[in-house]
Amino acid sequence: MASWAELQEELAVRGLAVASVPGKGRALVATRSFFPGEVVVWQEPYVSTPNKISEGSNCDNCFASSNLRKCSVCRVAWYCGSACQKEEWKLHQLECRAIAALTEDRKKMLTPTIRLMVRLVLRRKLQNEKAIPSSGTDNYNLVDALESRILPFWYI
Ligand SMILES: [Zn+2]
Ligand SMILES: [Zn+2]
Repeated sequence: MASWAELQEELAVRGLAVASVPGKGRALVATRSFFPGEVVVWQEPYVSTPNKISEGSNCDNCFASSNLRKCSVCRVAWYCGSACQKEEWKLHQLECRAIAALTEDRKKMLTPTIRLMVRLVLRRKLQNEKAIPSSGTDNYNLVDALESRILPFWYI
């Protein structure tokens, strides 16, 4: 599991740190100067899903909109090719089984928000089981670490 120190280490490489700023609370602060136009922070989303279901508007992995093919098992996920399908497979495998078990009526009730919540739970599960890697900046458990770190200041 990623730790607070690991998060600070990864942020330090980017010239950033999490700090308690008196009177303002917890904040992301710069530890070096940044040039105008320089990217300060860039992060892949923890989970994502296209905003349309069952229409094949975008690839589930890269959001490309052409050459899409439907997952033959759940018939809900779409991919632009085998590379994207492979990249998503560990997460989609669990989601796929759950979707495939739904009746057609229930499948029609799936929304992007529901898929996003399911994917969030599944990614946390896979990271906790170390089935997929996690880093200091993409570990959802760090939210807890950040909260417990700041709590003593709230009670002073
Ligand atoms: Zn793709
Ligand atoms: Zn599927």
